[in-house]
Amino acid sequence: MNYKTIRCDNCKNEFIFSLEEQDLYKKRGLPDPRVCPICRGMMGAKSRDKARLEYESKKR
Ligand SMILES: [Zn+2]
Repeated sequence: MNYKTIRCDNCKNEFIFSLEEQDLYKKRGLPDPRVCPICRGMMGAKSRDKARLEYESKKR
């Protein structure tokens, strides 16, 4: 197995960027991730929350 370890920009922990994921990112034309999956998940949830809040405030 060939994989890269990347240091997360957010929590500074190292995480494994597996060959499978590298393939997936390459196929999608995406650059290597800068943050670990945990932080990515949190950021995703946060941006979803923000979008929801903006939607709710427009309704009022
Ligand atoms: Zn992280």
